Amino acid sequence: MSSECIFCKIVKKEVPCYKIYETEKAIAFLDINPVAKAHTLVIPKKHIERIELCDDEILKELMMVVKKVGTVIAKTYHSDFNLVLNNGESAGQLIKHLHFHIIPRVKGDGITIDKQRTLEIDKKELEKIAKEMAEQIRRIFKE
Ligand code: AMP
Ligand code: ZN
Repeated sequence: MSSECIFCKIVKKEVPCYKIYETEKAIAFLDINPVAKAHTLVIPKKHIERIELCDDEILKELMMVVKKVGTVIAKTYHSDFNLVLNNGESAGQLIKHLHFHIIPRVKGDGITIDKQRTLEIDKKELEKIAKEMAEQIRRIFKE
């Protein structure tokens, strides 16, 4: 727990939230500045800053909660959704407690998450990066 962290305060019920769902290790609640109706955040109850630091068991539980919330968004609001993780400052992470955004999407909603500036990159370079990353995964996870 981090005493200064707003999401830890939500977990400890020191700050209220619009809770949607809770498991032993995870909690889902509405974003207070939503990009779309039903914009939801799914967080671990434990203070973990980034996904690389997240225990696999907790991550599994987070994804199970994402699936449940996503199912609700699809069925109830007849929406698709983006699952967004801002992992680190350069990626736009403002709150240093791991959280997945589930952002409901419908045709023509004008939300611009997926319309960010794209890189100019050729196929060869893409192949090289993919190969390099695959090798790194094998190396790091000893696969
Ligand atoms: P980011 O760290 O940029 O991925 O996003 C943090 C998100 O947390 C923003 O979308 C905020 O609107 C949201 N947020 C900040 N404080 C609260 C709060 N007390 N309850 C719910 N959502 C919050
Ligand atoms: Zn925290």
